[in-house]
Amino acid sequence: MVMVKARAVDGPDKSFREAEIQRRDLDSTDVLIEIKFAGICHSDIHTARGEWGEIQYPLVPGHEIAGIVTDIGSGVTKYKVGDRVGVGCMVDSCGECENCQKGEEQYCLKGNVPTYAGVDKYGEPTQGGYSTHIVVTEGFVVRIPDSIELDAAAPLLCAGITTYSPLNHWNAGPGKKVAVVGLGGLGHMGVKIAHAMGAEVTVLSQTLNKKEDGLAFGAAHYYATQDPKTFEKLAGTFDLIINTVSAQIDINGYLSLLTLDGALVNVGAPPEPMPVHVMSLIGHRRTFAGSMIGGIRETQEMLDFCAEHGIAPSIEVISADDIDDAYERVLASDVKYRFVIDTSTI
Ligand SMILES: [Zn+2]
Ligand SMILES: [Zn+2]
Repeated sequence: MVMVKARAVDGPDKSFREAEIQRRDLDSTDVLIEIKFAGICHSDIHTARGEWGEIQYPLVPGHEIAGIVTDIGSGVTKYKVGDRVGVGCMVDSCGECENCQKGEEQYCLKGNVPTYAGVDKYGEPTQGGYSTHIVVTEGFVVRIPDSIELDAAAPLLCAGITTYSPLNHWNAGPGKKVAVVGLGGLGHMGVKIAHAMGAEVTVLSQTLNKKEDGLAFGAAHYYATQDPKTFEKLAGTFDLIINTVSAQIDINGYLSLLTLDGALVNVGAPPEPMPVHVMSLIGHRRTFAGSMIGGIRETQEMLDFCAEHGIAPSIEVISADDIDDAYERVLASDVKYRFVIDTSTI
């Protein structure tokens, strides 16, 4: 057992504080990672504030982890000391169920072990990346290509894979019209990745405030959703819509933008139900779907894809003392486009 520095929160309305947490001794397949950077995801905020159900405090969030391997267990074969690696939203799964066998560990039938606010196979609560070190079994560690800086790599481990996986699954590519709803941490990665896949990308954002950025990220079109004319003009247009907004939106209005056999995929996760009119689906054989991160194999594929296409998140690196402030700015959509904690400041 080793004690490491972290930043923890003690309750839904509490500020972050300095903390020391335990990391387990290395099991034979475990890798010890010195965390260099940890991204701040909207899910961290939902979880830290208890909005997704009761959790056990103190909590150390963070599931966008980039760092360096500093020690390995006796049976580790994939990694060696000094390797650049990442850890995303989960750190283990049963490995035996149908979905794990398919490499879709995020949908493990026994439930994957989330990187924080979960319980690992030793019965211990998991604590995330707002910390200096983490121990993870090698099967849930991915390799960060040399051409991606570690600070920029961090958000790929959640925001990157969360958007890459549905774009990949619903075949975004040449000849496909893809809309991304919301241009935040997830949305901006969705635009970059969909564009790199060869799709014609449209951003649907509340206002035109970030239009220049959206076009620079690779969008061909940019519309304000607060303008009702947008919905008239774009009716029946898109093959695929990725909804990254984790708040209530008029989902039926967005479904009306899908073409025949089009799919609207939710990756943001608002705590409240969204009322869908079945008539919004029947008319054009539309699909209303959801998608959660991606499997480990697909996460590696996404990192390699980003390296190959020179894609990286747009980030603001912050000190650990600024986490509370960063949370407020994420909630106010005042971030370009992902906060990343420099863990040397923890
Ligand atoms: Zn996340
Ligand atoms: Zn499983």
